Parts: sequence; C-alpha cells; structure tokens
Amino acid sequence: MFKYNEFKVRILNEKVTTDRTTVYKCGSLIDLCRGPHVRHTGKVKALKITKNSSTYWEGKADAESLQRVYGISFPDPKQLKEWEKLQEEAAKRDHRKIGREQELFFFHELSPGSCFFQPRGAHIYNTLMNLIRGEYRKRGFQEVISPNIYNAKLWMTSGHWQHYADNMFSFEAEKEKFALKPMNCPGHCLIFDNRNRSWRELPLRMADFGVLHRNELSGALTGLTRVRRFQQDDAHIFCAPEQIKSEMKGCLDFLRHVYTIFGFSFQLVLSTRPEQYLGELEQWDAAEKALAESLDEFGMPWKENHGDGAFYGPKIDITIMDALKRPFQCATIQLDFQLPIRFNLNYIADDGEKKRPVIIHRAILGSVERMIAILTENYAGKWPFWLSPRQVMVVPVGPAYDEYAKSVRDQLYAAGFMSESDCDAGDTMNKKIRNAQLAQFNFILVVGDKERSSNTVNVRTRDNKVHGEVSVAELISKLQKIRDEFITNEDSF
Ligand SMILES: [Zn+2]
Repeated sequence: MFKYNEFKVRILNEKVTTDRTTVYKCGSLIDLCRGPHVRHTGKVKALKITKNSSTYWEGKADAESLQRVYGISFPDPKQLKEWEKLQEEAAKRDHRKIGREQELFFFHELSPGSCFFQPRGAHIYNTLMNLIRGEYRKRGFQEVISPNIYNAKLWMTSGHWQHYADNMFSFEAEKEKFALKPMNCPGHCLIFDNRNRSWRELPLRMADFGVLHRNELSGALTGLTRVRRFQQDDAHIFCAPEQIKSEMKGCLDFLRHVYTIFGFSFQLVLSTRPEQYLGELEQWDAAEKALAESLDEFGMPWKENHGDGAFYGPKIDITIMDALKRPFQCATIQLDFQLPIRFNLNYIADDGEKKRPVIIHRAILGSVERMIAILTENYAGKWPFWLSPRQVMVVPVGPAYDEYAKSVRDQLYAAGFMSESDCDAGDTMNKKIRNAQLAQFNFILVVGDKERSSNTVNVRTRDNKVHGEVSVAELISKLQKIRDEFITNEDSF
C-alpha cells in the first residue's frame, strides 16, 4: 500500500513492532498517521504556508536531506488574521531576539544546545534561583549538591540505562562506563540511603540545582526552549504514604506563590493510573485519593486525565498561561513508587518496622533555561524591577557631574542593584535618558549641581514618568521595597 514512498515503508519496518497497526483514511487519502484529518478540503477557508526549511530524516545529520513545509489552515479567514497578528507579536517577543538585543545570552556552534549566559542573563538566572532558595528556607527544603558523573551501574539500578540511554551523554574512564546525569533523582536516592533513616526525618525535602545534560538531536535544539544543558529547581520529597496529601498541598501552595509573582495564571490536571502500571492497586488508589483531596482543598478547579499517569505513579501537571495566553507546561508534581523499590530505600517507622518511602519529584520553574525563555517572551523584554538586568541608569546633566553619577551608581551597586552610569561625552542628557528608556532601565536618575550639593537624585521611569528629587538613602530604601515586594508598577515609586 505504501511502496510508493520509501519513508513510509521505513516507518512501517522500523517503528511498528506489533503485528497490526492502523492507518487514517480520509476520502481517497490513506495515511500512516494518528489523525485526525479535516474531513474534506472544502472546510478549509483560509490557508497559509508559514515556513519551509531543509531537514534531515528524523533530525539525524547522517540521514537523507528533506524539505519540511509548515502551514496552517482555518475554517474562517478572520481566524487566520487573528493568528497572524498573534504571530507578529510573538516574533517581536522571541526570546532569542531579545536575548541578543539585551545581551543576556547566546549560543555557539562549538557547544550546540548549551547556552552562554552573559552577566545580565546570569543575573536573571541567579535571581530566579535565589527566589526559589528563599522559599526553600521558609518551606523546609534542604539544598544538596550532587555529582554530575555517575558509573553506569547507577543508571542500571534506576532503569535509565535500559530506557533512556539514547538521551544520555556517556563515556569511558578507566575501562568503566560513565554518564552525565539527565536527572537528579538517582543521586538523591544515594543521599537518602547514605545512612539509616527514621520516620522522624520524614518528610525529607531534598533540593538540587544540579546541572543536567540530555542528548537532544542537534536538529531539535531551539533557543532556550530545547537545550542539552540545563538546571532545574528540582527537589525530591521522601515521605511516608500518609504524608502524600499534606506534601502535595505544600507543593501546590509553593507553585501558586511563585506563579503569582510572575503574573501567570495556571491550570491543574491530575493524571491517574495507566493500563500498564507497576505497583499495588491499593497503593495507587490511596495515592490518587490523596492527590484528589489535596487538589480539592487547594480550592482551584482541576481536571482529571484518566489513565495518563506514568507507569510508576500518578502526577499533577500544571499548565501556565503567559501574557499572550499561550500555554506552557513547566511544573510537575510526580509521585514515584518504583524508584524507592529499585534503590531498596527504607526508613524505620514509629513501630520499629522497616517501611518503604514514597518519592515526590517536583519542580516549579522546571528548567531554569526554559523558564527564562518563557519569561523573556511574557514580559517582551520589559523586565519587572526585581528580575531586571538593567534596574537603574544614572545620567549626569553634563561632564562636570560624571564623578557624582559614578558615586551614586556605586552606592546602588553596593546595595545589590544592577546599576550603570552613562558618562559618554558624545551624547546629550536627553539622548542618554532616551537610550536608557529604550534599553528598558526601570529607573533613570538624573544628577546635576543641585543633586550633587544635596546628595540627591532626580527620578524618572522608563515610561517617562517623573518622580522628582529624593535623597540617595531614601532612594535605596524605596528600591529595596519595590524589589523585595515584587512590585511591578514603577509609577508607585
Ligand atoms: Zn526526579
């Protein structure tokens, strides 16, 4: 049936491992595809070819070169217009473009998929991690630092070697096989298992910003959304089965706190036991009940995705919506009954019996890299003050005040702000203010004779709202408040 196309034959030979498979039929077209298809082309009232590019079969550089054609259709021309508008807005916000323009990060062909964060990008990266770190202290998480390289024996125990080896960078050293970690969990199991554990220590919340590597095909790498090297705000909670519900509530509260700061709305979906699962039915039922109750008590509407859980445990998927109402999945809260079995983890319960803990894998930002891509596009490069890589620019009214401008800049820098001064003799004061506004400096401080003699500055925002004269000490305390309370409206200065 498909011999007219060698690629379809290849898919049948290589991808279909069962003795039967299905095709999708639409009129006279029969395709090797999951469907669905539009019933007939008469339904298509608007059509646009959006892109074509050369690609390799399955993204592998040693396979045949092909042309990939991208297109989109709508049942109504109006919808195409709306979609085009949204695309234009999205293109303006593309994080790769803003990353370049604002000198935040770049990629180099000598390390595909691994990002170089320049100082301002690193500031954003560290600010996000510090936000999470601050919450860890309040929420009873303890940070650990664990190795990047593990002997293949660890990956055999965890199951990664059997199921995930293609996605891992591995190598030989002293005749032993090693691999770079794609996940932190197996290493955390070694930490848990380093000594006997008592029920008194549970829940044990272990956090790690460890560097992870996954061997994505070079053809699939796109900016910060698909990378080979990344860090997560990863944590594993080792808990007793009866603690699942309260831990889940803690996780949900944590993510609401962080997403509210970002200005994201979000949706919750509970994925339950799939047909193929490992573990005891009773354990699954109890865990799913605990998850459902924690969601109910959390108080936001949620949906169930029946049978969509992982084979090793149910999970809650969280989808965020950015400013363009685009959905992204970042956070997940995943229960795991299997890893504790694979690593033979246990704790001494209060009755003196050895018991098996449950692991909760959870991340809120997900990959910090990918979250930076989402935030860059969400804010369109207009960073809120607390996260901004360009918080304050000091502009002297003339060269005579350069020294004072630098001293104000230094005082702000010492107080923890990203401050710069523009003492370029070639530009007028107005040009400097305009440049700083275009570069998205949240605040621009103008200083001249009056300001220098009274140790003050004249404050205006990037939206050109003038706030007038304040003392440097008062300025610092106001900026600290705006930063620490995540205030996004600079007019409230
Ligand atoms: Zn994990």
